[in-house]
Amino acid sequence: MKRTLVALSTLLCLAACTMWVRSHLVADLWRWADAAGKTVRLSTVRSSAGEVTLVDSNLELAEPAPGITTGVVHTTDDADGALVFDLIRASSPRSMWERLGFAYSVHQSRDGSSTRVVNAPYWSVAAATALLPAIGLLGFLRRRRAARRRLANRCAECGYDLRASPDRCPECGAMRDKADRRST
Ligand SMILES: [Zn+2]
Repeated sequence: MKRTLVALSTLLCLAACTMWVRSHLVADLWRWADAAGKTVRLSTVRSSAGEVTLVDSNLELAEPAPGITTGVVHTTDDADGALVFDLIRASSPRSMWERLGFAYSVHQSRDGSSTRVVNAPYWSVAAATALLPAIGLLGFLRRRRAARRRLANRCAECGYDLRASPDRCPECGAMRDKADRRST
């Protein structure tokens, strides 16, 4: 279970780093649309310039929109995305929070449409997903160092020479386990 989580987290971290680099070369937009009469639910994920942004809109149209594609649409043409984002920025948010490249805002227009925007820099996604693999790697290196020290008849904790001390490390007080003592 722990290994699966570490592996999954490693994959996510690699994906985040790949998208981070890619976002500086090309903008990606994924869009889901779900239309019911005059109400259109529009969700967009935009990956651009080192940031990932989620935009979730509930649009109230004046007339039912016939040509709205439902399902996921992907495009690297950011003109569309830029337009939407400019409109969002221009409309004054009902509430807004912004710090270190993270942002959250809620926008409401007079026609009843509302939009929520969540923005996060890729470094934060990469850092969050790197946490588990880093802990796993540190644990692995510690276990390997301890095994090497036991083989060399040294304290697994501090590396002190234990040839003269069968039970307890005189340097740091760590007990030697039975398996270690038998091999001495
Ligand atoms: Zn020790």
